[in-house]
Amino acid sequence: MLMRLVMKFGGTAIDSPEKLIHVANLIKFHCQKKDNQIMVVVSAIRGITDGILFLANSISRGDKLSIRDFVDNIKKIHNTVLDKAINDKELRNKAHMIHSKLIDELEHILDGIVLLSEITPKSLDYLLSFGERLSTPLVSFALRDIGLNAQYMTGKEAGILTDSSFGAANPLIDTTKLRVLNKIEPLLNERKVPVITGFIGADQNGNITTLGRGGSDYTATIVAASTNADEVWLWSDVDGLLTADPKIVKNARVLREISFAEAMEMALFGAKYMHPRALEPVIMNKIPLRIRNTFNVKDRGTLILEDPRKVSQRIVKSISAIRHTALIDVAGVSMVGAPGTAAKIFDSLARSRINIMMISQSPSESSISMIVRKNDLDRAVTTIELNLLGTVIKQINVNEDVAVIAAVGSGMRGIKGVAAKVFGAVAKRNINVIMIAQGSSELNLAFAVNDRDCREAVNILHNEFKLYQS
Ligand code: ASP
Ligand code: MG
Repeated sequence: MLMRLVMKFGGTAIDSPEKLIHVANLIKFHCQKKDNQIMVVVSAIRGITDGILFLANSISRGDKLSIRDFVDNIKKIHNTVLDKAINDKELRNKAHMIHSKLIDELEHILDGIVLLSEITPKSLDYLLSFGERLSTPLVSFALRDIGLNAQYMTGKEAGILTDSSFGAANPLIDTTKLRVLNKIEPLLNERKVPVITGFIGADQNGNITTLGRGGSDYTATIVAASTNADEVWLWSDVDGLLTADPKIVKNARVLREISFAEAMEMALFGAKYMHPRALEPVIMNKIPLRIRNTFNVKDRGTLILEDPRKVSQRIVKSISAIRHTALIDVAGVSMVGAPGTAAKIFDSLARSRINIMMISQSPSESSISMIVRKNDLDRAVTTIELNLLGTVIKQINVNEDVAVIAAVGSGMRGIKGVAAKVFGAVAKRNINVIMIAQGSSELNLAFAVNDRDCREAVNILHNEFKLYQS
């Protein structure tokens, strides 16, 4: 049966000529198999997005000198891959021309921006787009070099329309779907292979926007939903989603099938980081998603779908850990029975753009505990001190070194004794649980421990729920 597939390749899959050739052959193999229709989404080469962000930072401090080095480096990285990966001289020259033009444009913009020493979110998105705008021609020409009729384009050209929240733009999904379908479907019917930049869209004024870090995954699922694809394959450099971080748990295993809801819970802290919103478009259209390893193609990876088969319906499926987090506890008798207290706290933190990862309040209402990323801790504490201390709250306590551990699995729903099992196992090892949260969806039971206890707690639970067994 012919399949319509979206395949997304991350930046580590194309950072050497050998890898690019491998990726091109992989795409060709799947195109020829059963006459599949394949759409390709590509990230920037590994390190480029970070490099641009770093450069933007130097530029905003007026540092002119770093521009030349950066441009030379970006040229070298792309030329090395291009020169060795594309055999046909004519195609290679064309690709070189496209790259030179893009890099000249980038250089001009950088020279302009440095005069003002100011980077706006809008100009930063424009700069960031060069990472993917340079990588897509590479993949496209590598495909043409082995005989496929590939055509590269930006997310903007593909039809991805977003609002103007530069840095984390939201796709306007209905219009996007129509536009992408109109653009892409004719190409598929002509047996062309569209190669689309991940991460990038455009707002209604035509300004380039980005979807947030890791946004190529999101692009892939948007394209899939728009074209009614059969599946999305995220080619990564790990075998799939795992029962635990293999750096913490030796016998962690690849999960073969999980539900969308479970994957959402795991997306943020698994070995494969996924854009938090990447699953939205595929959930809406019930399109299965696979996470596969570009460098271990024999492994079938993790399949994420609406209804996993019965066999995979275990109670708990994975134990994840989020480290580098801190706990803030705010307290005060005036909080008791005072409606709006929580709103005031969360509102002022939101204004300082601090993301609260976990919240818990006791029914006595005399204290609220929150977990934030360690990077946000200082700002969070300052915000609370400036806006709320002495009025809404009386006291603020901080624990700087905590880890959040989460047991995830839809089988937990309605099953009694899961919490007892989790906390019983942890207590047996004398590990102190500092804070607990469970959403009423019962997909996720999360608790905070001191960071030094993290490794042991994850291992105990991985064993307790026998996650090492397939
Ligand atoms: N290049 C972008 C990033 O590094 C998008 C992506 O890789 O998905 O965040
Ligand atoms: Mg990436």
